Amino acid sequence: MDAEPSFLLAIDQGTTSTRAILFDTSLRPLASHALEVLQIYPADGWVEHDPEEIWQAVIACCRVAAKGVSPAEIAAIGLANQRETTVLWERSTGKALHNAIVWQDRRTTDVCRILKENGHEPLVTARTGLVIDPYFSATKLRWLLDHVPDARRRADELAFGTIDSWLIFRLTGGHVHATDVTNASRTMLLDLRTLDWCDELLALFDVPRVVLPEVRDSAGDFGNATEDLLGARIPICGVAGDQQAAMFGQACFAPGDVKATYGTGCFALVNTGTAVPASRNRLLATAAYRARGTTAYAIEGSIFVAGSVVQWLRDGLGMIGSASEIEELVRRARGCEGLYFVPAFTGLGAPYWDPEARGAIVGLTRDAGAPEIARAALDAVCFQTRDLLAAMNADMKLAGFGQPEILKVDGGMVRNDAFCQRLADLTGLPVARPTLTETTALGAASLAGLGAGLFRDFADVASTWSLDRRFEPKLACQTRDALYEGWRDAVKRVRSRGN
Ligand code: ADP
Repeated sequence: MDAEPSFLLAIDQGTTSTRAILFDTSLRPLASHALEVLQIYPADGWVEHDPEEIWQAVIACCRVAAKGVSPAEIAAIGLANQRETTVLWERSTGKALHNAIVWQDRRTTDVCRILKENGHEPLVTARTGLVIDPYFSATKLRWLLDHVPDARRRADELAFGTIDSWLIFRLTGGHVHATDVTNASRTMLLDLRTLDWCDELLALFDVPRVVLPEVRDSAGDFGNATEDLLGARIPICGVAGDQQAAMFGQACFAPGDVKATYGTGCFALVNTGTAVPASRNRLLATAAYRARGTTAYAIEGSIFVAGSVVQWLRDGLGMIGSASEIEELVRRARGCEGLYFVPAFTGLGAPYWDPEARGAIVGLTRDAGAPEIARAALDAVCFQTRDLLAAMNADMKLAGFGQPEILKVDGGMVRNDAFCQRLADLTGLPVARPTLTETTALGAASLAGLGAGLFRDFADVASTWSLDRRFEPKLACQTRDALYEGWRDAVKRVRSRGN
């Protein structure tokens, strides 16, 4: 049997699916398997996952993805995961005490509102780079401690974790209770400067330190998956939250390197280097990775509606039968200048933060039909990207950095060539699409390879990134700016009062 370490096994535990991908050590994907995640909606605005189901799915996916190779040949496991989702379990049995509270869950809205009203947001932002919002783990954990019978009293017997910690605990047979800096930076309990838990915030959110995992590098030692699981003891050497993993998979290692992932929503992150950033433009500051003695930070902006506007054209309006049919439809679009679609179905995200805003199609004329509305929907994703880039550029300028020169993209929407071209045209930035668009899993595998010592350095990882296609902006600058002005007007019309 050849026991040379020849493979890396990446786990991508997402909100809607769990997948495992087997890579070779040149980071080429060889086999994969995915399973859906059951969504549990116990009440309006509440979203839960079953941690036990997630764990079973992870193991099932790993076994299928790795079935063609000898387990002894797997050099390391890398893990990327949905961020912020909160689990509380019993250390002695490894049993979860409640369903996981998913990042989308809004049950702690009132707690967050009161904290804000009491003036705590400046402290939280200064320490964590985040805004007070139910999205992050801290108030979810507090809810669990307050609502699971006896949880507070038994805190020293319990462990908290985001999905990464939960899976590491299970993979290592309960030996390791740890998280990485990227996941920790989304809990609202981490001090971004020290990358350690912050006592002031633990007091504010009423969280006992004893339940928290140890914060480790994103590439490094997270213990070993026990032999009974996959047939060999396999070290876990890379861990990151999904967006940071995608950023790593896109090799955004230098300040100013920016990636945007276009799935259901869109998440854009720009590398801001080794100093702790602060956004003055209503974006979030977060940890990008810590590996090989280097800490990198990022500024992050998110758009709630990206690919989901395509789903709405399909399911809400019946304009298309499948998402990819939008390509043919938009090809038939004519003029219709001044037509804008603002898909604020659930409010507007960064940099507007207007939860009360609602969507609109403005500038309709008699000759507007399905193709024109579909094009306006895709354009909206491009304009919102420009909104984010403008805020990022302003933050980068304040920090003394130059402007991004290229936008690296991934996610389901970027299969669409016309969308990528339009993105370049409307943002004015060249758009680069890599060969492998499974960048989240790729990032997990890259971190694992780095942590296991298979790659010499970041440059070695970056050399595996390969370009599929580059889209150059072709619109005249004046036209681009005039179209953007129109978008800004359209957004004004949907803003809620007081915003
Ligand atoms: P997620 O990881 O959020 O589930 P994916 O990265 O799998 O999302 O991307 C799926 C999204 O991409 C869907 O919202 C879908 O509407 C959109 N999408 C898929 N194909 C196309 C296409 N050809 N053009 C535009 N959007 C597309």
